[in-house]
Amino acid sequence: MPVRILISNDDGINSKGLHRLHEALSTLGEVFVVAPDRDQSAVSHSLSLYRPLRLDEVTDHVYTVDGTPTDCINLAINGILHDLKPDLVVSGINKGENLGDDITYSGTVSAAMEGTLLGVPSIAVSLAGKNDYNFEAACHYCVKISKYVLKNKLPKDTLLNINIPGISKSDIKGVMVTRQGKRLYEEPVVEKTDPRGRKYYWIGGDALGFIHIENSDIAAVNDGYVSVTPITLDLTDFGFMDELRKNLDGEKT
Ligand code: MN
Repeated sequence: MPVRILISNDDGINSKGLHRLHEALSTLGEVFVVAPDRDQSAVSHSLSLYRPLRLDEVTDHVYTVDGTPTDCINLAINGILHDLKPDLVVSGINKGENLGDDITYSGTVSAAMEGTLLGVPSIAVSLAGKNDYNFEAACHYCVKISKYVLKNKLPKDTLLNINIPGISKSDIKGVMVTRQGKRLYEEPVVEKTDPRGRKYYWIGGDALGFIHIENSDIAAVNDGYVSVTPITLDLTDFGFMDELRKNLDGEKT
């Protein structure tokens, strides 16, 4: 049976990162694309429950949805593909990195989370940088890691968050397995006045750098490595449970 791969993204159906990913993964098997009809970056794990979703078939095996990345994966696995369950979900290639705490906002990572929740080994792939994205290295490593996941699967409730440095393929030092890092941000909200005298706000300051955490995703990408972080869907802080229990367990009044 041919390998079946479902891809999506949060940059939308017209993103070059999605097209390049589609081409690259077609060398591994049959690829289905179910992607948002427009940019849905930073929508996190949003699921549309209170409105209908419309699906458009663009070409064979390529669909757009007027919804979020999570809607796309859910609709693809539970609706479009039905009993043709994919062997792998790949989300990306996102224009811009998804590192450290940013992954909690990321539509790219959330699409992979949805795939994981629905029982399909899933990976999220992002290319660091701001402009002039060169997807060659990202495609190369994406194929390499996809092959690994197809062969070895992933633990239940675990996905891979992959970030590729925005440098040429020959300058990349290799793959590094990492942990989630922590960024530092400056002035997160910018206040301005519109032409009619009304205030408006713009969220999202520039990253100032990062807290140095040994082996973090941010440090690896900064040093020219492809970062591969295993992310688990269980968000429980096990280290804090004992202290919390001592103080709160059994409290009634
Ligand atoms: Mn994006």
